[in-house]
Amino acid sequence: MLDNAPKSIRKIKDSQNDSIGIGIEIVWDNDNHNVLDSVFLRRHCPCADCEEIRVKNKLGEDRVSGGADFSDKATKVSNTSSLRVVASSFEQQTNLIEIKLVGNYAIAILWGDGHKNGIYSFEYLRELCDYIKI
Ligand SMILES: [Zn+2]
Repeated sequence: MLDNAPKSIRKIKDSQNDSIGIGIEIVWDNDNHNVLDSVFLRRHCPCADCEEIRVKNKLGEDRVSGGADFSDKATKVSNTSSLRVVASSFEQQTNLIEIKLVGNYAIAILWGDGHKNGIYSFEYLRELCDYIKI
């Protein structure tokens, strides 16, 4: 068992619409708990694609960066269309569909636009929780 493994992580649903995931609640082994909202989590998606977008756009914009490089699985329009850039909406990108445990060290998050490459290690989640407390 890792020292910093959480006791539990659960998806928080929108109170008006339970098909929408608005964040996660983490209970740590010392019983502290934190809530991370989905917009924040998506903005800090640790996968290589999102990292690249963040570097290009400079982190800190008040929205999820980019969109063009997000999974084309969610793209409903033709690949040749220049509309591809806006093919997945902000609502889809920040709709947290599912959390999956990865090994015993991380979670993966499936987003409403089909994006699921981000592996959030418990250590990284801890950093994000510390970050929002500042
Ligand atoms: Zn990502």
